[in-house]
Amino acid sequence: MTAQILDGKVVAAAVKNEVATAVADLAVAPGLATVLVGDDPASHAYVRGKRRDAAEVGIHSIHHELAGDIAQEELLELIDRLNADEGVDGILVQLPLPDHLDGEATVERIDPGKDVDGLHPFNLGQLVLDRPGLRSCTPSGVMRILEHYGIEVAGRRAVIVGRSFLVGRPLALMMSARGIDATVTIAHSRTPDLARLTGSADILVAAAGVPGLIGASHVGPGATVVDVGINRVGDRLVGDVDHRAVSEVAGAITPVPGGVGPMTRAMLLANTVTAARRRRQG
Ligand code: NAP
Repeated sequence: MTAQILDGKVVAAAVKNEVATAVADLAVAPGLATVLVGDDPASHAYVRGKRRDAAEVGIHSIHHELAGDIAQEELLELIDRLNADEGVDGILVQLPLPDHLDGEATVERIDPGKDVDGLHPFNLGQLVLDRPGLRSCTPSGVMRILEHYGIEVAGRRAVIVGRSFLVGRPLALMMSARGIDATVTIAHSRTPDLARLTGSADILVAAAGVPGLIGASHVGPGATVVDVGINRVGDRLVGDVDHRAVSEVAGAITPVPGGVGPMTRAMLLANTVTAARRRRQG
């Protein structure tokens, strides 16, 4: 068997089309403030990409670049100004921040209504309560890929490898929400006999940050495998899944690159439009 490829670029393009249509319906283009601290080349590249995406769909981005030695108070003052700025619908602080800054305190300072990364404790709490809120981008992107390709989730057994607040935990909540109805198990670095657990999954999501963690022996025949991992090995980007070997066993699989990565970026745009609509409706 060779698995069907779940192409994140195709799904991201569909999301971007929807966002562009929604933006065109708004009287004033949504504003996305991007905040970048320091000179980490990867962070600069990520923010450049996000701003380029925003421009493509008609979202106005306002960029703030801060010195790597900025004081926490100064960063929080900028967040306060962006919270109060009527022209800003979404605020994105590129993480990770330099070591001397407190990432959690910074995210918590963002107005939850402008928290387009969906990482503010209020929005994570709304997810726990199954209430509307801005949802974190990577797990939303995973859900959207499954929906786009008609992968049945209700009643299926999902195993998520990774319990971070960025990916694994919110995704587990989304998959087990009423109306979505997967039965979810979260695995982590202390989980014994990972292969036996993951082998029982109808839907297996790998979000561990360990290249090649999931091999053919970890996957049941015909399972759907979503590879969230992005790991640099030499000059290549690879996922957490041994793509070639697992493709011979799985029914469907996301590639790296070109799987969940483009979806994360697309869902940021979708969140920015959602935030703009909600703010303007009052
Ligand atoms: P993280 O905060 O480091 O969390 C990794 C999780 O994986 C932890 O819960 C850890 O367990 C678990 N883990 C580590 N080694 C394991 C092993 N050998 N067996 C089972 N579980 C193991 O990472 P993250 O931020 O969630 O990111 C995970 C990966 O996704 C990274 O490669 C990251 O680059 C990628 N990512 C991709 C996107 C995208 O857009 N595609 C977005 C975000 C992240 P413990 O809790 O026990 O330590």
